Amino acid sequence: MGILIRNGVLVTAGDTYRADILVEAGHIKAIGANLGDGSETVYDAAGKYIFPGGIDGHVHLAQISSRGTALTDFSTTVAALAGGTTTVIAYATQKESTGILDSLEQFREEQIEGKSAVDVGMHAYLRSPNENSLAEFPALAEAGIPTVKLFMAAKGSAVHCDDRAIFTALRKAKECGMLVMVHAENSDLLSVLQQEFVDSGRTEPLWHGRAHPEVAEEEATVRAILLAKAAAAPLFVVHVSCADAMRRVREGRQSGVRVLAETCPHYLVLDASRLALPDFEGGKYVCSPPLRDAANQEPLWRALQESWIGVVGSDHCAFNFHGVKDLGKGYFPKISNGVPGMQDRLHILYTYGVLAGKLSLNRMVDVWTTTPAKVFGLYPQKGSLAVGADADIVIFDPEYSDIITAASSLEGIDYALYEGFVRKGRAEKVFLRGELVMDQGKFVGHLGQGRFIRRAPFGSAYDAPAL
Ligand SMILES: [Zn+2]
Repeated sequence: MGILIRNGVLVTAGDTYRADILVEAGHIKAIGANLGDGSETVYDAAGKYIFPGGIDGHVHLAQISSRGTALTDFSTTVAALAGGTTTVIAYATQKESTGILDSLEQFREEQIEGKSAVDVGMHAYLRSPNENSLAEFPALAEAGIPTVKLFMAAKGSAVHCDDRAIFTALRKAKECGMLVMVHAENSDLLSVLQQEFVDSGRTEPLWHGRAHPEVAEEEATVRAILLAKAAAAPLFVVHVSCADAMRRVREGRQSGVRVLAETCPHYLVLDASRLALPDFEGGKYVCSPPLRDAANQEPLWRALQESWIGVVGSDHCAFNFHGVKDLGKGYFPKISNGVPGMQDRLHILYTYGVLAGKLSLNRMVDVWTTTPAKVFGLYPQKGSLAVGADADIVIFDPEYSDIITAASSLEGIDYALYEGFVRKGRAEKVFLRGELVMDQGKFVGHLGQGRFIRRAPFGSAYDAPAL
């Protein structure tokens, strides 16, 4: 018993064409005309686009934040499905006095298995690397976890990495098919400014933004790129938020460094004025790097269209406003950092990118799923509409339109980041490995249907876009 999706317009990173898709046993069996033997369940997709399921390479779930507050768990990945995302890659933190792989195995068993609505990969989030952690890199790659995140900010904390740590990690990673990802902000600069603001009583959310200036991100981005150059290793810069950092990535790529970058939907459509909203409303928008001046948005959109930035991840990190975010009222260093975004990554890209003429439909699919699949070792199993690939498929209705509200959020928190935004288009039907799991905005699957996905070592599927 297969599935036949007829009359849709297939959109991939490279092509737009009309064809039918035959699905059998969880995989795409054929693409073309006159498919099937009549025994299939038929879905008519006339007037609809067909996308490969989305890949969100940057989510934080089931973790305890650096402020000691709890994030939402994997049951909320239903929100990702509502936005057409069928795979997420979640950060899993190395535990104190536990090996990386043991920490991650434990996280998988306790938090992912039996709970997730989408397929899940893991990024290792390291405590400052030492000889022991570097020695685990080959085993991580072997276990299907070929990515490690290093944190350049927060000096003095367990996760902070100095240049020595980053350089040695880059060198080791290159040897065994691992990819180093960095959160690039200059820690010293941030801490000086934060102290000054706190000492002078400037403690509203607005000052969180001012304590993370663009130049701090730009400086750390340059430094990471040059360390990657010195190590002759690839580098992935997560959540590029501003034009100056993006230009440094572009320069790095032009000079031959294999630097790949991600930006996030909130940097494309929200700006720093949100942080200044009265009555601590600004607290809802506190994340790091912070929202920037609106002038950064056009260059980031252009960088996506022109392939300087290849990936859009949500950096979903959801906290309730009441009872969690508001613990930082009157003292911004206590605000839990992070914003939700798993549900609306596609809607923001489509409504404010494609329909606004800033992003082609093919580029949207590319940054939303295909390049993430290639960079993170999921291609061609995921991220493409191709014979043999997992049947992670979205039937997208471009005619649908509504308004984003907290009431329509499935993210499991008490506010919507994009409250009041028009949302055009909808992932009307979403298939995960051939099963219909989301139908007209309703979850029709079950929690636990998502599997842990072992990913291939870095470089095995990645083909660098032309520079
Ligand atoms: Zn993040």
